[in-house]
Amino acid sequence: MVVDGGTYSPVPTDLIVRAPKVLLHDHLDGGLRPQTVLDLADEFGYAGLPAQDAGTLAKWFADAAYSGSLERYLETFKHTVGVTQTEEALRRVARECAVDLAADGVVYAEIRYAPELHVEQGLNLNQIVEAVLAGFSEGQRQAESQGHRIRVGVLLTAMRTATHSRQIAELAVQYRDLGVVGFDIAGAEAGFPPTRHLDAFEYLRRENAHFTIHAGEAFGLPSIWEAIQWCGADRLGHGVRIVDDITVEPDGSVTLGRLAAYVRDRRIPLEMCPSSNIQTGAAASIEQHPIGLLRRLGFRVTVNTDNRLMSGTSMSREMELLSQAFGYGLNDLQWFTLNAMKSAFLPFDERLTMINEQIKPQYSALKAVLADRLTGRE
Ligand SMILES: [Zn+2]
Repeated sequence: MVVDGGTYSPVPTDLIVRAPKVLLHDHLDGGLRPQTVLDLADEFGYAGLPAQDAGTLAKWFADAAYSGSLERYLETFKHTVGVTQTEEALRRVARECAVDLAADGVVYAEIRYAPELHVEQGLNLNQIVEAVLAGFSEGQRQAESQGHRIRVGVLLTAMRTATHSRQIAELAVQYRDLGVVGFDIAGAEAGFPPTRHLDAFEYLRRENAHFTIHAGEAFGLPSIWEAIQWCGADRLGHGVRIVDDITVEPDGSVTLGRLAAYVRDRRIPLEMCPSSNIQTGAAASIEQHPIGLLRRLGFRVTVNTDNRLMSGTSMSREMELLSQAFGYGLNDLQWFTLNAMKSAFLPFDERLTMINEQIKPQYSALKAVLADRLTGRE
């Protein structure tokens, strides 16, 4: 019997972990290890953590994130940001982030955070950026010594509810050759349209710099439209609500509105985060997540983690959930991964090298492993 290792699903967990993965949307303050939150709170005298051991704390984060209450969800970030107000702490969480992602098979990641949230104890923005970059360098070296190669780029985020976006955009340009690869805005979407920060985006475009915008998560099409047509976003953070511009008839035929057609035609990358979207109510379940429809229609969909601590997830876990829900095989996981690599804020030649020398050969090898396993030779 000849078995196709590319289409078989669900893909076994160990092969998903081994598969090279590319992550474009992950928040540094949403990915701390529970034990690190405890250690840092201890070290820097941060009071008010809701639990005193790692297991209970991890559960508290997940419960709060799934509670459906925005206040409780935001409280989780109050703690992770609260314990990362020193250079030492920022360096540690960045280092551990790189190590954890590498161990999960991530070969390239863009990690974002908002420098303006880490100034409570007197750090200036440059100290913050440099501490995080140093942490990622250490993490990449540590991962390499453990046999995992990962490359990490940084996105500097400005809070859309605040007024520092131009300053943060300038910071991103200042550090563009030192590991910062782009810019983002995040935070409450309703009432804070991307055009509030037009000054920052116009500046970045004049500087030939890259940026993504959280849009189309909590708020719908107008936010996506502004992000693309007014601000000039290279990518959309989430963008799930683009489905509001797609009509599926009972007979299965599909009609795209003008905005959805534009997003697909221009290959605008959608940074989708399935588990996170369920927590925030942007999707009802993995099975009903718009990623299934958008993948079928050929949008440039990518798979991401958003907040690994709050969602209790990893890149492998997100891939596994999708493989189970939609019957995706290694071919599909490779497609998501290539989409992400093509959409990375890295120079074109470097993206191509990673695709041709790392991602494609490794997926081919895994498909052969799976085919052998299925035919009983392994
Ligand atoms: Zn996000």
